[in-house]
Amino acid sequence: MIQFDTVHKRFPNGTTAVHDLSLEMPEGGVTVLVGSSGCGKTTTLRMINRMVDPTSGTIRVGGKDVLERDAAELRRSIGYVIQQSGLFPHRTVLDNIATVPLLLGWGRRKARARATELLETVGLTADAGKRYPHQLSGGQQQRVGVARALAADPPVLLMDEPFGAVDPVVRTQLQDELLRLQKELSKTIVFVTHDVDEAVRLGDQIAIFRTGGHLVQCASPAELLARPADDFVADFLGAERGLKLLSLENLAEVPQGPAPEGGPWTLALDEDRRPLNWRSASGDTAFPVRPLRDGDSLLAALNESIASPAGLVARVDAQGALTGVTSRDDIHEHAARAHGTASVAI
Ligand code: ATP
Repeated sequence: MIQFDTVHKRFPNGTTAVHDLSLEMPEGGVTVLVGSSGCGKTTTLRMINRMVDPTSGTIRVGGKDVLERDAAELRRSIGYVIQQSGLFPHRTVLDNIATVPLLLGWGRRKARARATELLETVGLTADAGKRYPHQLSGGQQQRVGVARALAADPPVLLMDEPFGAVDPVVRTQLQDELLRLQKELSKTIVFVTHDVDEAVRLGDQIAIFRTGGHLVQCASPAELLARPADDFVADFLGAERGLKLLSLENLAEVPQGPAPEGGPWTLALDEDRRPLNWRSASGDTAFPVRPLRDGDSLLAALNESIASPAGLVARVDAQGALTGVTSRDDIHEHAARAHGTASVAI
């Protein structure tokens, strides 16, 4: 959908921001650009909608060279979200969201109807539409920024550290929202971030850049975490690379057996077979249990198996009823497989 073919960007002051970049950003997928400060992520993003033009090389969006498109028209056809939301302070939230549809000549009524619909899409109440940006929290402003970018239903969304300025809890909520939206909308998204965890959560592919605008590796999160191309990538992904990989694998394939009966710890259940807690044999000690479902990650399972006094994870179905338990050893074995290091017979 978006293709960079040996794209080079050198600014007039002599700085090379992007060095012979060749990269494909697939249609309907999220490509995350990461790397240390100043490595050319924002410049790469801005060349897609011609806020910056390349010095050489070709960028194609939907098969067409962007330099052959009218810059203003191209920009209106691509959604753009930035860190400080970039909202117009003197316009209401609804008018902010309606900006691009109005520029495209939609007519006021239709543009406002679309803006109202989008408020709900991004998880805001209709009441928020009447307010001005400063009357919203940082997280709410970012939601408006996303709604504004989606207003004309562009096939491509560019997002430059859109969640960089909000606290970690709100950031996770915004990431969840984006993943939910993306499931419905399947936009081609290019997302810049400094945060490796954010990249792993959101990316279908992650492109890692090094200072001087060099692309070092582009791969799926699992591939990148399991097989970093070099020490730079491994260091960038951090010491917890192995745990991050476990956050991408789920419990579904890990075997489960019956809950223990009569051992030092037993699992107390309510009348609907929902786990209540772990009880000691003497009956005078109870430990909390956090039951997991098939879709939960191996990382969550490892964590729970360490927290559980029995070293067991309680597994439940969609209704919360116990289906079985999984041992720490089984989780370890699957964790090793996820790393491609499972033991083989010799
Ligand atoms: P950050 O993570 O800090 O936002 P980045 O990876 O997005 O950085 P860019 O903003 O693309 O990096 O900048 C890449 C390089 O190009 C930097 O050295 C920057 O100083 C330089 N640069 C960016 N814009 C210009 C410009 N208009 N003129 C001159 N140099 C520029």
